[in-house]
Amino acid sequence: MHLARFPRVFLAHLPTPLERLDRLTKELGGPEIWIKRDDCTGLSTGGNKTRKLEFLMAEAQVQGADTVITQGATQSNHARQTAAFAAKLGLACHILLEDRTGSNDPNYNANGNVLLDHLHGATTSKRAGGMDMAAEMELVAQRLRNEGRKVYIIPGGGSNPTGALGYVNCAFELVSQANDRGLVIDHIVTATGSAGTQAGLVTGLKAINAGIPLLGIGVRAPREKQEESVFNLAVRTAEKLGCPSVVTRGDVVADSSYVGAGYGIPRDDTLEAIRLFAQLEGILLDPVYSGKGAAGLIDYIRKGRFKKGERVVFLHTGGSAALFGYDAIFSEQRKGLTV
Ligand SMILES: *Cc1c(COP(=O)(O)O)cnc(C)c1O
Repeated sequence: MHLARFPRVFLAHLPTPLERLDRLTKELGGPEIWIKRDDCTGLSTGGNKTRKLEFLMAEAQVQGADTVITQGATQSNHARQTAAFAAKLGLACHILLEDRTGSNDPNYNANGNVLLDHLHGATTSKRAGGMDMAAEMELVAQRLRNEGRKVYIIPGGGSNPTGALGYVNCAFELVSQANDRGLVIDHIVTATGSAGTQAGLVTGLKAINAGIPLLGIGVRAPREKQEESVFNLAVRTAEKLGCPSVVTRGDVVADSSYVGAGYGIPRDDTLEAIRLFAQLEGILLDPVYSGKGAAGLIDYIRKGRFKKGERVVFLHTGGSAALFGYDAIFSEQRKGLTV
């Protein structure tokens, strides 16, 4: 597997650290918990989209683009990392923000990731929840092309075979780190949304025959739908890499039990996970993705599905900038701690 054959802009801070979470491990009394710090990829508070954008932005440059367009939810971490990457490369960036939560909270709508999108110089436009965002991006792209711009469209979450290469690379990086320190990994857990992270990881793990099961914790779609979209993307990614059929349907496992009322709406166990990581490990999760992913991890440990004596790696996909769009959900805690 030779990823150097694909164009790439080297920008992320890699390898990201692999660390043991001693206090969280002790608190839960189950397996040894490790964390792969993809919240520390280095670009505008970090996160998982940066690895994908290294390959996507290189493709944009190869095609001679002067403008990139992408889309996401209002508090999209993908949008923020795309805006920052575009700034670094001197590309114009327009982002379509889909109102998936219907929140009127001014911080949700203008603080956190939205503040950073604009700080990086991206322009944004809003769309109602449930619109066909790919079609909306195409309309905007046509308009800009008519004005003479060379537009490159990045799908939501950067999740296509090109973007997923970033997580094929992450699988190699993680296994190599584990090999170097004699760490036997029994499970990998991560949040899964637009599917590129899990699809790239499972493709990379299978391509090197790592034998490590990967669990995606869903943040939006029901299990079956999530697994299908991860599997479809993994198949296309494996084809791009020249190792077709390396991923089987059974390799793709997602659990959507921790979604709650919907995308971007945290549950009590999401908030508990955020607090545990913050107060035992000094690590910031987010209310949309990593908080739900960690809630799944914690529940699996409490239910004995991950056991004492095993080692679990939680891939931290980032997202802490969104905390500032969600400050209202922590108002109860503020009362308790302000003296
Ligand atoms: C986008 C995102 C995810 C999900 O990754 P996908 O590749 O879209 O499945 C997880 N965590 C955070 C913080 C994200 O921004």
